[in-house]
Amino acid sequence: TASILSPRTEGRTLVVGATGFIGRFVVEASLLAGRPTYLLVRPGTSCPSKVKTIKALEDKKAIGCINDQVLMEKILKDHKIDVVISAVGGESILDQLKLVKAIKAVATVKRFLPSEFGHDIDRADPVEPGLTMYNEKRAVRRLVEEVGIPYTYICCNSIAAWPYHDNTHPSEVSPPLDRFQIYGDGSVKAYFVDGADIGKLTVRALDDDRTLNKSIHFRPSGNFLNINELASLWEKKIGRTLPRVIVTEEDLLAAAKENCIPRSIVASFTHDIFIKGCQINFSIDRTDEIEVSSLYPDVRFRTIDECFDDYLIKPEFAVKTVGEEKIEKIIKPNPMVELLHKTGMCA
Ligand code: NDP
Repeated sequence: TASILSPRTEGRTLVVGATGFIGRFVVEASLLAGRPTYLLVRPGTSCPSKVKTIKALEDKKAIGCINDQVLMEKILKDHKIDVVISAVGGESILDQLKLVKAIKAVATVKRFLPSEFGHDIDRADPVEPGLTMYNEKRAVRRLVEEVGIPYTYICCNSIAAWPYHDNTHPSEVSPPLDRFQIYGDGSVKAYFVDGADIGKLTVRALDDDRTLNKSIHFRPSGNFLNINELASLWEKKIGRTLPRVIVTEEDLLAAAKENCIPRSIVASFTHDIFIKGCQINFSIDRTDEIEVSSLYPDVRFRTIDECFDDYLIKPEFAVKTVGEEKIEKIIKPNPMVELLHKTGMCA
């Protein structure tokens, strides 16, 4: 419709955290939209998959850290950046304070999206250690508002994946093959959005006047499920039922209290989502917020059903068909779960 603005190709866009989990979805969407897309890359990034992303955009790469204000001002000026999207990880949220100051100093950036990509952090109230991260995200919001930078906050809720309570990057782990861990009675609903859709709609919002100084909430009606429903959906995909183990509110609070970072942060968010209902216990009725489907009614979100299909092509889920019968080739627990347990740090 006439009220929907198509992305302007001249909107020179700097993505900070471009090599990260969310950042890569944003970069991909920005390139697909035909925007001149610049990547800020920290010196010494060596992970092969990250290097691949960076190599593809070698000519539009800037090296640096956002906590270097002078350098950031130079990068913003040299590349005539119009829009800055930050997708720095949870441990670097406060680094954005310097970036905000640099954006304020150059005064040419038309829109800033701080690293949010989750809940409405002014409403949600997780227990520690998640609360500390939210307080940091809140501090970034307050500085942005105080210095008067044009902003958009992306509140995209949960990434479409199995919501393990003890992992940092849910999409990198497959749904379970041994047993489901059901939080509480498994009835509290949440929104699960595909990473590519998060990227696409984030980029679409950049040049839209209706998203200026607003929070954009992602509540696609077809992606609204509780964990019992997620489990049934996955059982249908793999063609068998799995035992369900209850993880109580007390279990989640105990996991949060252990203060193992990042695992306990995820436990505190899991408690907030699946016990307290932090994604659904408010209505979107303030003048400074809007639901994404009402902004872009033409967008069809990938369903969880489709997202779960992505896992079935992974080797551990390979199935072969003999006559009418499906036979599972390999059924093994995902090694990623263990890996992430070992990389955590306990305070
Ligand atoms: P990652 O840890 O995957 O990536 C962080 C990125 O930021 C990396 O590219 C990293 O660079 C870069 N970075 C970190 N510090 C700096 C700095 N000082 N200067 C420049 N670059 C820096 O982050 P995530 O994708 O997990 O998190 C991004 C946001 O999304 C967070 O706000 C997080 O809370 C949220 N999130 C939401 C989820 C959901 O389900 N809704 C799931 C996961 C995250 P390098 O490559 O050098 O490390």
